[in-house]
Amino acid sequence: MPYQLCDKVRSLEPYEPIKGQYKIRLDANESFYSMPEEVLSEIRDIVNTLDFNRYPDPMATELIRSFSDFYGLDPDTVTATNGSDEMLYLLASAMLKKNSTVVVADPDFSMYNFYSFLSENKVITYRKNELLGINVDDLIKTVNDNSADMVIFSNPCNPTGLGISADDARKLVRSVNALVVLDEAYMDFWDQSILTEASSYDNLIVLKTASKAVGCAAIRLGFAVANKTITNALRAVKSPYNVNSLSQRIGTCVYAHKDMLIERRDTIIRNTKELYKSILALKERYSLAFDIVEPCANFVFVRTELAKDIFTYLLENGIAVRFFGSAGALRITTGSEEENAEVLRCIEKYIAASCRTRVCGR
Ligand SMILES: *Cc1c(COP(=O)(O)O)cnc(C)c1O
Repeated sequence: MPYQLCDKVRSLEPYEPIKGQYKIRLDANESFYSMPEEVLSEIRDIVNTLDFNRYPDPMATELIRSFSDFYGLDPDTVTATNGSDEMLYLLASAMLKKNSTVVVADPDFSMYNFYSFLSENKVITYRKNELLGINVDDLIKTVNDNSADMVIFSNPCNPTGLGISADDARKLVRSVNALVVLDEAYMDFWDQSILTEASSYDNLIVLKTASKAVGCAAIRLGFAVANKTITNALRAVKSPYNVNSLSQRIGTCVYAHKDMLIERRDTIIRNTKELYKSILALKERYSLAFDIVEPCANFVFVRTELAKDIFTYLLENGIAVRFFGSAGALRITTGSEEENAEVLRCIEKYIAASCRTRVCGR
């Protein structure tokens, strides 16, 4: 018999974000800011002085120090990875025994499911209610009834933009024996973090990323924060040179620019609130059947029967947002004020035109 791919991977397709060139990209929850000139000039110095022939520091010591300083953490409780994605894969594979049970939520970040599938875990799905929130008592019950080994979800959630309170997160961690993985990728935009207490629990890992509020998706930096026992295990299972030297040094530099990061974060929060209010105003002006709640992250999630049509219309006009077919929803990342104004203008144009030709709204 000639070699054949195993069943598990035969029908998989490479992950492909949206194809084509768009003048406005609001599809991947990135920061709309690139780096300011003062940071860019430091980055040029980094490139000029890098030892290209040497392997990176396997423990990413300086990077972790800078990250820990920014968030007020003990560096001995932090592990750095090549984006959070690398850590998600490690958690599903190396950190669990074969056939372990993992609880994921739906809707939530699709990568949790994907890596559990690859690692041949048993996946139990906690389905969110009609309002798309997590009822923490129900989630605890799901974890305990299934004797789950791990429960993982994003808080605030991608794609819904909703989150659970810090008290609910604490209650979950204390009420289960499972390892709780709390992905706080978007918590910079909200105030219910339990990051600084992560290392005081036996069974908690909090994930952070430089890809969203910090505006460094290009250089792939993720962080896991947990007690020292868990941290030692995470550092032991990762591949030794997982974070390249350039990313380590650039990340070290960027996290040191605290005021810049905080100011930009605040602008993104402000722009998100404005975008949300403007979409709400559209909903009212045209009596649209939009389901939309105030987001805790840097994007707005809109459930509407028009999602597919609006998505297509925006693409035709050079604007990329994310369409979720199964939820019948659009996820629109906050852009600059100009980008947000443009996406709103375009949505309104579509709605005004379609209201002339048919009845829209409820
Ligand atoms: C974007 C995102 C991440 C970040 O992943 P990286 O690999 O660090 O870029 C992690 N979790 C969630 C829920 C996200 O939406």
